[in-house]
Amino acid sequence: MTGLALERVRHRYPDATVDSVHAVDLEIASGGMLALVGPSGSGKSTLLRVAAGLEQPTAGRVLLGDRDVTALPPERRGLSVVSQRPHLFDHLDVTGNVAFGPRVAGVPRREARTRARRYLHLVHLDGLGRRRPGQLSGGQQQRVALARALATGREVLLLDEPFGSLDAALRSAMHELLGELRAAVDPTVLLVTHDLDEAALAERVGVLVDGRLHQVAEPGELYRRPATLTVARLLGGFVEVPGTVVPTTGGPQHRSAWGCWSLPGDAGAAGRSTSGDAVLLVRREDLRLVPDGPRDGHPTGPGVRGRVVASRRRGVRVVVVVETSDRSRVEVELAPREDVAVGTPVGVRPADGAAVWAVDAPEPDPSSTTRHTRHAAHLPGSGPRACDDALRD
Ligand code: ADP
Repeated sequence: MTGLALERVRHRYPDATVDSVHAVDLEIASGGMLALVGPSGSGKSTLLRVAAGLEQPTAGRVLLGDRDVTALPPERRGLSVVSQRPHLFDHLDVTGNVAFGPRVAGVPRREARTRARRYLHLVHLDGLGRRRPGQLSGGQQQRVALARALATGREVLLLDEPFGSLDAALRSAMHELLGELRAAVDPTVLLVTHDLDEAALAERVGVLVDGRLHQVAEPGELYRRPATLTVARLLGGFVEVPGTVVPTTGGPQHRSAWGCWSLPGDAGAAGRSTSGDAVLLVRREDLRLVPDGPRDGHPTGPGVRGRVVASRRRGVRVVVVVETSDRSRVEVELAPREDVAVGTPVGVRPADGAAVWAVDAPEPDPSSTTRHTRHAAHLPGSGPRACDDALRD
C-alpha cells in the first residue's frame, strides 16, 4: 500500500521565472523509506515542503495512503517533519516536548507523558525527561525531535537534512537509531539529504537535479546503472570513456580509444537503431593496471595504454595517475603492496567481472520525449566481453 505519493507535482516560488520542481512523480510504499539526493538548490527541500503542506504545488497532487491531502494544511495531513534544527519548546521539559503532539490530539496529560516516556526510551534518552532542551547536547536534542515526531502517531515522517549539523560519529549513531526506530514503529519515511552514505540507508534513492527527478533506484543499482551522466557525476567514482555506441547484428557495441565492448543484456532489447555518442562508465575501483607490451601473458579485453605520471597516497592505498594514449588522465588504485614508478608504461583495463555501463552523451534533456537507450555490460566472474580484444595504442 502507498504511504506517500506525489503525482506530477510542479512548484514555482512567487516572482521566480522558472519552476523549482518540474512534474515530479514519487511513491513511497507504506513503511518504506526513500532518500532524495541532489546538488544544493535542486529542489529537495521544496519537494519535502510540498509534501508537508508548507508549500502549495503549482500543479499535481499529494496523497497519503489513498487520501488526497493537497488542499489540507500541514497539521491536518497526518505527517511529521524533522528538520536540521530540532525546534524544541524551551519552556517545556523533554517529556513535555514529546507529549506535546498527543496532548494537542486530546490525549489526557498522564497518558501523554507515559507515551512520551516510551518514545524517549526508544531514542535512548531514559532518565533525561525532566531536563530542559537547553540542558541537552545537539545530538540529544535531535533525538528528542525524532521522539516527538513519532509520538504523534502519524505514519509519515519527513526528514529534512535531520542530521546535517551533527559530527560524523553522532551522525552515524543517528543512522543506527533511525534503523531501530523503523523496526519498532514502521513509519513511511522521506529523507532529504546531501550525504550519499546517509541516502543508502533507504531502500530507494531519488536523484533530483534542477527540479527534475533523474532516477529512482535501489542504492546499489544507482551505482551500477546511473541513468544519466549527471547522476554518475553526482555519485562520483566513475571513470568516463567517451565513444560511440554502434548497433550490430550481435548487439550494440561501445567503441572508443579503450577498444570495443560488446554490450549484452537489456541493450539489445532496448534497441538503438542508429549509432550515437555514448560514455562508457567504469567504477574507479574496478580498474586495474596491466603490464604494457605484447598481449601474450595478460588477459585480453578492452583497455588503454598509457604512462604513470603521478603517484600519491589516499588513506592506506596508493593511487597512480595514468596519462592515456588519448591524452586523458585516469586514476587507478593499486593493490596492497603493489608499486609502480612514475614514468612506467602501463595498460589500464577494467577488472574481470567489472560492471560497466554506457549512458548517452551529451547529456539528454530529461524533458525531451526522445527515447534514450542505455546499455549494460555486467558479466560477473567472466570478465568484460571484448568485441576487439587488443589494448589500443
Ligand atoms: P535544495 O533543498 O535541493 O537545496 P531548495 O528546494 O531549497 O533546494 O531550492 C530549490 C530552488 O528554489 C533553488 O533555486 C532556490 O534558490 C529556490 N528557492 C528556495 N526557497 C525559495 C524561496 N523561499 N523563494 C524563492 N526561491 C526559493
